[in-house]
Amino acid sequence: MRANKMDQPNQGVKCVVNTCYYYMSGDHCSADKIEVQPKNASNTEETDCATFVPQGQY
Ligand code: SF4
Repeated sequence: MRANKMDQPNQGVKCVVNTCYYYMSGDHCSADKIEVQPKNASNTEETDCATFVPQGQY
């Protein structure tokens, strides 16, 4: 899912993935929306942000 990068943090998300295009310092996400996968996950480790894009890709 392609998200729009905002110029302010998404207040509903805390994220520490500092290699992501959408990451903002202070552990913020600047994506206007995120998608989390996969279906049928059974614990925290199995879930991931599917909106992640490596820095430099766009
Ligand atoms: S898109 Fe996902 S991985 Fe990237 S900063 Fe936002 S929550 Fe983190």
